[in-house]
Amino acid sequence: MAQVPLSVPRPAPLPACDVRWHEGNVDRADRWKHLRQRGATVWFTGLSGSGKSTIASAVEELLIASGRWAYRLDGDNLRHGVCSDLGFSRVDRAENARRVAELALLFADSGSVALVCLVSPYKDDRRHARELHEQAGLDFVEVFVNTSLAECARRDVKGLYAKARGGALGNLTGVGAPYERPTAPDVELTEDLDVASAAACVLAALPVVTTA
Ligand code: ADP
Repeated sequence: MAQVPLSVPRPAPLPACDVRWHEGNVDRADRWKHLRQRGATVWFTGLSGSGKSTIASAVEELLIASGRWAYRLDGDNLRHGVCSDLGFSRVDRAENARRVAELALLFADSGSVALVCLVSPYKDDRRHARELHEQAGLDFVEVFVNTSLAECARRDVKGLYAKARGGALGNLTGVGAPYERPTAPDVELTEDLDVASAAACVLAALPVVTTA
């Protein structure tokens, strides 16, 4: 397993004198009332191929079908754009998780249910994402998609485990890089659940998203 520094530098906040927060004319309560729903972030963590994107897509579909606003923030997709400058070093993974957490925060604040699908292997990065939401008064639901390494490697949807076995990918999470398992996730999904059952478990754990 790769060595992991104990603490990862995060960007320092800008000096307060240079940048000021600009309140809008509509506040969170107004936005949510208009949408008739609460915003929240659901953070799926687990190994590559564990089922994060598949289950989050099913949850998104159910929420949209019931007239809610939900949006998937998928790690692989975000690496095509907002995170395209980042690699897979410890520092880059922390920055990747930080950016996705900030994005999710904005979606949740706007009233959406942000569905984050990110391997996010480090406890510190997931804790940071949760704290960010808690400080902003936003619900954060951590979902551990607990599919075994053996099952993920058997599925090998992206061919990454074969690459790792062949020596072409040295830092695959769970193989050449660590995965720090969540110790107290809000939801834990095991591999015996089918996609529909897993999605139902997630929905059951969501705070009531509808407001009067
Ligand atoms: P991740 O986003 O965690 O990398 P994906 O959702 O992209 O994982 O891939 C998971 C793969 O496993 C998909 O091909 C999916 O169809 C398959 N799969 C099989 N059984 C399940 C299950 N019970 N839950 C989620 N995915 C499953």
